[in-house]
Amino acid sequence: MSLLAGKLGIVFGVANKRSIAWAIAQAWHREGAKLAFTYQGERLKENVEELAGTFGADTLLMECDVTKDADIARVFDEVGKKFGKLHLLLHSVAFAPKDALEGEFVNTSREAFRVAHDVSAYSLVALARGAAPLMTGGGSIVAMTYYGSEKVVPHYNVMGVAKASLEASARYLAYDLGPKKIRVNCISAGPVNTLAARGIAGFTEMLKRYEAHAPLKRNVLPEELGATGVFLAGDGAAAITGQVIYVDCGYQIMGM
Ligand code: NAP
Repeated sequence: MSLLAGKLGIVFGVANKRSIAWAIAQAWHREGAKLAFTYQGERLKENVEELAGTFGADTLLMECDVTKDADIARVFDEVGKKFGKLHLLLHSVAFAPKDALEGEFVNTSREAFRVAHDVSAYSLVALARGAAPLMTGGGSIVAMTYYGSEKVVPHYNVMGVAKASLEASARYLAYDLGPKKIRVNCISAGPVNTLAARGIAGFTEMLKRYEAHAPLKRNVLPEELGATGVFLAGDGAAAITGQVIYVDCGYQIMGM
């Protein structure tokens, strides 16, 4: 039986085939969900078009810079027209200026702090507000986060602070939207080699450290994030909301 048969979803954050969003979208699709996709700008359009096209030539694909309210309004308007309603939303979007991910956190500029929080945290609030009116039969919103939100991970810097804001936002959204049967959860993924990850100084070291110290002695696989995405989207997680689920081969439990 397909776990997500009849579900309608939208995925924010596919850049290429390595994107975590793509791993979760594939898993949602495999379980029977019908999906729409967004891409940030013309630069990525072709990539996303090619990937989304594998789910059918009529797959809805829209441009959306999550820092633009007009883009978000247009996207949910189009989804409303095409789908009529919505059950699933994946937020897999983050950005901080490169220099903020290299030096010391104490040197984070006001502008880098603002941009990181706008793209990586406020966007969840804006997308949830856009999606909620379409989630008339309840829904599941899933956002990608990282352990740098609660512990210091050198070089992750302002992105860790933005992820803390994202996780807190998920809890407040879970409270607001719970009466509408809309659940909001975060997946805290161990490091995965993607475009965004390569922007973090020392990322390769991070992969090695997880392999050496995580209880499972390896790094997480994209398809394992997909499987957790399916769980959070489906009835198995019907009573789970406002949570951060660690999918990191156990790294988060370690004290040293
Ligand atoms: P990715 O493939 O580079 O995906 C990041 C996505 O965010 C890209 O599609 C990017 O588009 C998009 N984005 C950035 N700014 C945007 C904006 N203003 N509007 C719309 N989209 C925007 O990297 P990923 O690793 O899969 O990242 C997905 C999520 O997983 C992020 O939230 C990340 O923090 C989280 N995460 C990643 C890891 C990891 O190790 N990779 C671990 C834990 C959590 P552009 O390429 O056009 O900027």
